[in-house]
Amino acid sequence: MIATDAPRIIIAIDGFSSCGKSTLAKQIANALHYRYIDTGAMYRATSLYFLRYHVDLYHPEQVAAALPSIEIDFRKHPQTNLQETFLNGENVEEEIRVNPRVVSIVSDVSAISEVRRFLVKQQQQLGLQKGIVMDGRDIGTVVFPKAELKIFVTADPKIRTQRRLDELREKGQQTTFEEVLANLQKRDHIDSTRADSPLKKAEDAIELDNSHLSKEDQFELVMEWVKRAIFNQGSTSI
Ligand code: C5P
Repeated sequence: MIATDAPRIIIAIDGFSSCGKSTLAKQIANALHYRYIDTGAMYRATSLYFLRYHVDLYHPEQVAAALPSIEIDFRKHPQTNLQETFLNGENVEEEIRVNPRVVSIVSDVSAISEVRRFLVKQQQQLGLQKGIVMDGRDIGTVVFPKAELKIFVTADPKIRTQRRLDELREKGQQTTFEEVLANLQKRDHIDSTRADSPLKKAEDAIELDNSHLSKEDQFELVMEWVKRAIFNQGSTSI
């Protein structure tokens, strides 16, 4: 248990696609009573908007004109208490995860500097009060370079593919191991090689390879890092 008067910190979780970042981030946020922000959902919702309104990604004027009309927020489902993504007041949680068109363009959308500036500004606002766990690709490097705890998650690509495949099949999506692996590899490549805010481990991030860790063991390990980070902020009781 962490004392309720302990200093509140920012926890940045970055890493490749389908490494279990969001599961980990939600566990930590719940345990600490912190806010959880899934920045990938923000890039996905923006991609959905572009698809719906036929915004041409290769026309900077069209992208710039569309961005001010995009409002993304997160709300907790009243029954399940799970966080869901809203785009201009509409619940798009399911669609942004399973719509193959969203999945196929999201890395190209997130490589556009104008889009990143627009979303990063909102993410930084959300962190002003601290007490936040945020996951993504550039949280420890760009959004919160001074985050008190930074974690960089990795896992074997085949294990990540199988996890993602199980998730999609659970949601009723018909797809194959090869298709999922190809999409992960493509997204990882675009994410790590783009000019603006490429995915990379911040120098002061702790690397976590969870290929062979259970969710429970991973959580226990990370909570030790969390306690240490809070203690380093001058808390006498954790
Ligand atoms: O985390 P998730 O897989 O939902 O992210 C979807 C996509 O959004 C990623 O493949 C990446 O291209 C982009 N993204 C990003 N920066 C973030 C979060 C996600 O570029 N902070």
